Amino acid sequence: MATRVIPPRILRNLRYNTATKPLKSVQPPLSPSLSPSPCLPPPTSTVLRPAATPDLNFHDVEKLFSHVRTTALLRSAAVLHATAVEPLVDFGSWLLRSNLVNVPGLRELIFATVRATFYDHFCAGEDAPTAASKIQELNHAGLRGMLVYGVEDALDNDACDRNFRGFLRTIDVSRSLPPSSVSFVIVKITAICPMSLLERMSDLLRWQHKDPSFSLPWKQDCFPIFSESSPLYHTRTRPEPLTPEEERDLELAMQRFLELCQKCAQSNIPLLVDAEHTSVQPAIDYFTYSSAIVNNKDDNAIVYGTIQTYLKDAKERLLLTVTAAEKMGIPMGFKLVRGAYMSSETKLAESLGYQSPIHDTIDDTHECFNACSSYMLEKVANGPGGVVLATHNVESGKLAAAKAHELGIGKVNHKVEFAQLHGMSEALSFGLSNAGFQVSKYMPFGPVETVMPYLLRRAEENRGLLAASGFDRQLMRKELGRRLKSAVF
Ligand SMILES: Cc1cc2nc3c(=O)[nH]c(=O)nc-3n(C[C@H](O)[C@H](O)[C@H](O)COP(=O)(O)OP(=O)(O)OC[C@H]3O[C@@H](n4cnc5c(N)ncnc54)[C@H](O)[C@@H]3O)c2cc1C
Repeated sequence: MATRVIPPRILRNLRYNTATKPLKSVQPPLSPSLSPSPCLPPPTSTVLRPAATPDLNFHDVEKLFSHVRTTALLRSAAVLHATAVEPLVDFGSWLLRSNLVNVPGLRELIFATVRATFYDHFCAGEDAPTAASKIQELNHAGLRGMLVYGVEDALDNDACDRNFRGFLRTIDVSRSLPPSSVSFVIVKITAICPMSLLERMSDLLRWQHKDPSFSLPWKQDCFPIFSESSPLYHTRTRPEPLTPEEERDLELAMQRFLELCQKCAQSNIPLLVDAEHTSVQPAIDYFTYSSAIVNNKDDNAIVYGTIQTYLKDAKERLLLTVTAAEKMGIPMGFKLVRGAYMSSETKLAESLGYQSPIHDTIDDTHECFNACSSYMLEKVANGPGGVVLATHNVESGKLAAAKAHELGIGKVNHKVEFAQLHGMSEALSFGLSNAGFQVSKYMPFGPVETVMPYLLRRAEENRGLLAASGFDRQLMRKELGRRLKSAVF
């Protein structure tokens, strides 16, 4: 499908436009097109603005943490304090990447320490049944779970098959749980299609975007993958077509993905596709969109994609995809994130002599995330599809909650889900849940050895994010102090 240029006027209007009216005020009906309603200036920092959403109450720490046992609260506070100590994170990262983890005896000691602290806090368990029981615990506290089988990128078909079986088990476990406790199953395309093939496909897709006459015989119907401003610097020369072997591998990967989609459709659990580096993201979007066209029906989005709003072309691509899906009558769902590969994206672009594809300032990223959230909330309030607002940013959470409130969606609305990583931003999760929104925790599970590289990557790529746990730590300390006082006096 050809990519069209979006008029700048529409992009300008795609800003965070929650009105400054009292939250309970009745809103005029929204037109299904992009509303040209007055725009608020973009949020400029993560500092709380107390008046935004009276429903999101972070002051009543007793209510906020009422579902959390004191031992769990103590451990969470301790782990979050440790992750905020940069030298400790540096040392831990170095240790886990060093050869010391291969020394018998020391290896067991290192992994036992990691398991009892960092891993237990951020992960759902070593196997699917343990993860399932953690989800049930969460559900008692009013939250839901998104199960993530913790695997890294696959290099060949054997690894893809192994990972595929893990994803199938994840769906089985998810559907064995009460439907209200699991919101999504997560899949990483990089785990079920060899990385080298994803890179080749992305090159070919980019070249076709540059030269629409370039034929890709394997390409099925798909929504637009690029916009006019998408980075294409990864592909500088015309790539060779896929070899017969690569085409076979692509067919195998497609079959794996389609089987996961079908199993999710039968279980009525949506499947959420994670986003990765821009070097392979075009191929990931191709898998997502071509399968969404087949599997997303009526008002039910089974396949969800992810938009990384730290990318300069994020807004444009979101608009193009949503518009194309609407035209074809396909309900489309998106998870919105800021993005986790900032330093590697910038390094790669620099090494090729290009500007980073990431917004020049963090405020631009905040503005883009909030604008895309606002746009998607309006879309799902007025039509099919769904949105997952995956963020730890309190300001973004408050703005989106206010917008959802304003639009009359949110409470028990299956189209809007807030999400935070397991072990992160408990205050925001409970605050949103107490305000009546659906909130999920993103819960990676798997053996420590398998999941740790994934967590280390998150820790390194999100140093800012770990530091941002300061808000949580402060509230946890306050509640622990309150519980101590009430026990003593
Ligand atoms: C449920 C869930 C699912 C996720 N899935 C994915 C996924 O599929 N793919 C993926 O890539 N990430 C994913 N992430 C990670 C996410 O993209 C972020 O890395 C992370 O959540 C931090 O963003 P935040 O919205 O929580 O905001 P904040 O806590 O406000 O963090 C902002 C961070 O954004 C970074 N940043 C972004 N743009 C800029 C800029 N221009 N200048 C400086 N710093 C900048 C900085 O590192 C900063 O620390 C997921 C996160 C969650 C909670």
